[in-house]
Amino acid sequence: MLRDRLGRELKDIRISVTDRCNFRCFFCMPADGEVTFLHRKDLLTYEEIARVVRVLTPLGVRKARITGGEPLMRAHIENLIGMLAPVDGLRDIALTTNGYRLEEKVELLKTAGLNRLTVSLITLKPDRFKRMVGRNLSLEKVIRGIKSAKSMGLEPLKINTVVVRGANDDEILDIAEFCRENDLILRFIEFMDVGTLNGWNLDKVVPAREILSTLAKRYSFEELERKDSSETALRFRFRDTGQEFGIIASVTQPFCRGCSRLRLSADGKLFTCLFANDGFDVKELLRSGATDEELLSYIKDIWTEREDRYSELRFELRKDRGKRVEMFRVGG
Ligand code: SF4
Repeated sequence: MLRDRLGRELKDIRISVTDRCNFRCFFCMPADGEVTFLHRKDLLTYEEIARVVRVLTPLGVRKARITGGEPLMRAHIENLIGMLAPVDGLRDIALTTNGYRLEEKVELLKTAGLNRLTVSLITLKPDRFKRMVGRNLSLEKVIRGIKSAKSMGLEPLKINTVVVRGANDDEILDIAEFCRENDLILRFIEFMDVGTLNGWNLDKVVPAREILSTLAKRYSFEELERKDSSETALRFRFRDTGQEFGIIASVTQPFCRGCSRLRLSADGKLFTCLFANDGFDVKELLRSGATDEELLSYIKDIWTEREDRYSELRFELRKDRGKRVEMFRVGG
C-alpha cells in the first residue's frame, strides 16, 4: 500500500469532471464572482479519466467520487460511470450533485453502475434557496430529485448541508427532521475556507459542538465509531429511529491524519489537498504518449512526497497561503 510522508494510504480519488455549475452558492462560487471557465478542449475526456483511475487502483484506490462544479452538467456523465464500473480493484463509485438535474438523470446513473449518491441541500425555504444558490431556481426540483433517487434504490442516500451562521443555521432541526422523515443520511458540514471567493471568516462557522447542542434540544443520539481512519464525518445515531447522521468538522476537528484522498481536476491536475495552491499536471503526460508505467511512477512520487495537513495548520497557514484552488475546480 502506497503511503505519504505522514504514513497515510492512498484509497480515494475525487474526480471533478467540470468546473461549471447551474448554481452560484455563495459559499463556493458567488454569483457576482468573476469566473473564467475551462474550455471543452481543456477538459479530460472520459477515456482519459478512466485511464487515470485504472493506473490508480494498483496504488490502492478503491473508491471514486465524481464531483464538479456540478457533474450532471457534463454531457452523458453516465458514460464515465460505465467506463469506471469495470475497472479492476475499484469497489465503489459515488457522485455528489446539487440535485437539480437528478430527476432526469438518476435512472441512467444507476443503470451505468453508480453505487452511492450524495445530494447537497442547504435550505428547505424556497425563497432562501434562490438567494443562497444565487439563481431563480426551484427548491422543489431538488426535493423531487432526492425522492426519485430514493425510489430508484440508490442507498444509502446522503444529504450534505453546509451550515453558515446567519444564512441557514436556524434550519438545523428542520433539515434533520426532513432527513429523518425521508430516511436520508444527513451530513452537516462546517463552512470551510476553500478557495478565495467565498468570503469565509471564523464568525460564519457553526462548530460541530454547537450543531450537536442544537440537535440535543429535540433529539437523543449517541456517537458512533468512525468506519475507518479516512472517514471525514463524526458519526451519530438517533436513539429513537436508529438512523445515522454526521458532521464534517474540518475547521474545529480536522481529520487530516487519516486523509487518503487525491483529487483530479477537470483539466487534468492532481491535487493532494482541498486547500492546495496548485496541482500536478497529468494531462500533458496523458496526451504526450506516456505509458501507464510512467504515469504510475509519476503519481507514486506525488503521493509519497505528500505532507499536506492544511486543516490542522489552518490558522498558521491562512495568512500567507496565497491563491488556493477554488472549490468548484476540485469538487470539495
Ligand atoms: S485539509 Fe487537506 S490534508 Fe486535511 S483532510 Fe482536507 S484535504 Fe486532507
